[in-house]
Amino acid sequence: MTFSCTLALILSSLLAQSQKAHQHGAAQINVAMEGGKGELEFESPADGILGFEHAPKTAAQKKSTADVLAKFKTQANTLFEFPAAAGCTLTPKEVEIHREGPQHAEVHAHYAVACKSAPTGQLTLGVFKAYPRLTSIAVTVLSGSQQSATQATPAKATVKLN
Ligand SMILES: [Zn+2]
Repeated sequence: MTFSCTLALILSSLLAQSQKAHQHGAAQINVAMEGGKGELEFESPADGILGFEHAPKTAAQKKSTADVLAKFKTQANTLFEFPAAAGCTLTPKEVEIHREGPQHAEVHAHYAVACKSAPTGQLTLGVFKAYPRLTSIAVTVLSGSQQSATQATPAKATVKLN
């Protein structure tokens, strides 16, 4: 099994465990790093990001939906800021809004993380500033054999990476 394949499996099992509730304003981030390589997965009820979860109807709603997808695809480094010294690049593997029945929807973004050196220090969650409706993010960091879980908030929008 390849390295990235193993990580992807670990991440999906972490996400499966953590997705107990669809709670508006609450999101989930899982980061798994092995040295300078890894993955980051973000999942949030669309309400916390878009402000609505029904299929977009008006032109304004269609535009906000497109804007959200574009931001998560092209500005991931401002939403999830790794320490600058590590020189990390986030490459989107999957960015989508998926519907959960007629009432609810989730924003899901999954990235490959490639850094020049293993990131040490803090991950800054710019996603709180970009989307003020988000009130909490449960962050799981898996680094080597270490796993940590943190509850981040707009007032404490950083997470220790190791
Ligand atoms: Zn919902």
